[in-house]
Amino acid sequence: MRALIIGAGPAGLTAALVLRRSGWHVRLVEEAPRLRTEGFSVPVHERGRQVLASLLDVPVTRGPVEMSRGDLVRMLAREVGEICFGVAAETVPHEGWDLVLGADGIDSPTRGRLGLDGRRPTGHVLLFPTGEAPGGDPWRADGIDQIVLPRWSVGNVMLIGDAAAASGASTGYGTTVALAMGYEVATGMTRGLTLDEIEARLRPWVTEQQAAARRRLRA
Ligand SMILES: Cc1cc2nc3c(=O)[nH]c(=O)nc-3n(C[C@H](O)[C@H](O)[C@H](O)COP(=O)(O)OP(=O)(O)OC[C@H]3O[C@@H](n4cnc5c(N)ncnc54)[C@H](O)[C@@H]3O)c2cc1C
Repeated sequence: MRALIIGAGPAGLTAALVLRRSGWHVRLVEEAPRLRTEGFSVPVHERGRQVLASLLDVPVTRGPVEMSRGDLVRMLAREVGEICFGVAAETVPHEGWDLVLGADGIDSPTRGRLGLDGRRPTGHVLLFPTGEAPGGDPWRADGIDQIVLPRWSVGNVMLIGDAAAASGASTGYGTTVALAMGYEVATGMTRGLTLDEIEARLRPWVTEQQAAARRRLRA
């Protein structure tokens, strides 16, 4: 079986690892010229820790654990093997694959290609340090958005992680959802489930994570 996975973040790396270990031929493409290891520490909740424990021999602990995003993607990428860097989602045909996974983040161009749109502002704003030299603007303000879609797949193409169901930057839920979606979708495919069946199993839990993220923003 052959899969194209677009985006080498936590969601795409996890799905690629599961599928390759199950004997699938996987082409993992990433727009950036190298692994994107930027980012602060991200909380990984219990379900995410379970995914990491089963794939990377990381012990499962109770409650959320703070990990550097860079360390997380490096750990996954070390196990994954080949990643085709410098390849943008917009340039790869979706035809000719048994499965295409759009793991290309909150602004997912793959989602746009599927004609799905579900950006929901939470009404909150996040200030990012820009890292600009003195004299430049040290902060950038972005709205905190969630992605809520009526469906995650069209034909053989499925969205996972932030592309399908972003919880909202800084809420602390995005990485766990990305790990769980990558793992469950890939595992479901190796067990012969349809994309609709996989979505039906995952959606209640993902919806609850997004609701918890909104509650956290209101608190
Ligand atoms: C560089 C970076 C830093 C981050 N820092 C933090 C942080 O500090 N704290 C936090 O809570 N969350 C952070 N996040 C978001 C966090 O990683 C996600 O919320 C969560 O882990 C979901 O993971 P994901 O794999 O779905 O998406 P992402 O982690 O966003 O990964 C998506 C991947 O797809 C790639 N991609 C995007 N567009 C294209 C395209 N057109 N073609 C091919 N590939 C493409 C991106 O380069 C990226 O590697 C960051 C994300 C990135 C990309």
